Amino acid sequence: MLNTLNSAIKGDKNLDAVTGILDRASLLQKLDEVIKDKNNASQYIFGIANIEQFKLINHSHGHKAGDYALNVVAKTLSLELDKNTIIGRIGNDEFGFICKDKRIAQIQSSCESLNFSLSHAPVTWDGKKIRLHIKFGLVKIDDETQDCDQILRHANEAIYSAKYDGCPTVCEYDGNATAILRRSGNMEEAIKLQRWIARDQFLLYVQPIVYLNNPKKASHFELLLRGKTDDGKIISPGKLIDAAEDFNLTPMLDKWVIRNLFTWIKQSDNSLSSQYKFSFNISALSINDNDLSHFIIELAKKEKVNPRKINIEITERVAISNMKRCYDFMTELKKAGFTFSLDDFGSGYSSFKYIQVLPFDVIKIDGSFIRDIDKNKQNQIIAKAVTDIAKAYGRKTVAEYIENEKIAAITSEIGIDYGQGYYFSKPFPITKLSDA
Ligand code: C2E
Ligand code: MG
Ligand code: MG
Repeated sequence: MLNTLNSAIKGDKNLDAVTGILDRASLLQKLDEVIKDKNNASQYIFGIANIEQFKLINHSHGHKAGDYALNVVAKTLSLELDKNTIIGRIGNDEFGFICKDKRIAQIQSSCESLNFSLSHAPVTWDGKKIRLHIKFGLVKIDDETQDCDQILRHANEAIYSAKYDGCPTVCEYDGNATAILRRSGNMEEAIKLQRWIARDQFLLYVQPIVYLNNPKKASHFELLLRGKTDDGKIISPGKLIDAAEDFNLTPMLDKWVIRNLFTWIKQSDNSLSSQYKFSFNISALSINDNDLSHFIIELAKKEKVNPRKINIEITERVAISNMKRCYDFMTELKKAGFTFSLDDFGSGYSSFKYIQVLPFDVIKIDGSFIRDIDKNKQNQIIAKAVTDIAKAYGRKTVAEYIENEKIAAITSEIGIDYGQGYYFSKPFPITKLSDA
């Protein structure tokens, strides 16, 4: 059937004015025909390709650049997906495609290769380089399929999973996929963020992580990012990091932190890093960035930073989102001497599987179990259980959010090794360390 449809396309007037491929109505008409043709023995898969940050491209480079980007994506899609696939533009930043007799794995690999080429070889517009990141949602068309609306809904749910459930490039709708209905309403924040990155409007703060049996002594310092507003206010990263995640900017932000930390260590003549370790946080997107481990290892060599003095924090949420990738990332950096903490353990899935499988050196028990541990017996039991299991696996533990003396005493008593929290010190600018 697709062959007939493809030949019909040639004379089709319903083409998208910008890209010259089918427009939404025409593609959906083809989809409708495929769904209704119950006698057809072929297997069909419908996919949506969504350009990330497309609005940002229009805003930052103008609509002509946006149109150009759309054309590049349309062409690359046509090249990657073979002639048995019908492609159309179904939204501002969205393309749909119907693949005939292809396995999901084949389509997935074409999608990944397409995203790889567009994100690694930026398109050039007016002398400026624009990186394009594409997310894909795939859904099988089968006997259960009711109509176009259902297919579009499922493909969109898969796209949302690709965006927010751990950020793989391609997600297949699996019937259980729960759409995370978080819209990227953070565009203004994202534009601001890009401006701040360009102007270096960030500061590195640190917070000590102390030995609970000797709280005057810091074991290491966690790096915490702060933004500086145009009127000089210092702000916490929460909202910025949400916006950065929505627009794929976290790897840039994480690299900013790593670069500035290593430069600071070098400038402080490594005297502080010979006494202490420094921990930095990395985001989900950074874990999926195949170049990041290489970037960290090479930069440490260049700046003569001893990897044994650097610890990397990965949150439980990020670890679960892509365990295989996380494992590879950690293994490579551990070989070079870096250590790892599992951050916010208990905040979500609390599976001991991460402790078993992933080579974390330290488990940071989430602040939600600690902040009221002096009043909440259940949280005390949980924190003790996590500590015992971590010990059994030879891992150290940190209690986050220690806000008073009583909490410090309890966490020490249950055998937690290190503590972090306002009781010991609030985060402060890293520059104060060299002044001390
Ligand atoms: P996190 O890695 O779990 O960092 C600890 C957070 O707890 C910090 O918030 C810290 O200020 C706060 N905190 C520490 N002790 C206490 C306490 O006693 N009470 C209370 N209420 N809070 C305490 P902050 O700096 O706002 O950072 C929030 C999160 O943002 C961090 O959680 C981390 O996930 C993320 N983040 C911060 N800096 C970076 C960064 O450079 N890169 C990335 N990817 N994420 C970062
Ligand atoms: Mg952390
Ligand atoms: Mg934490």
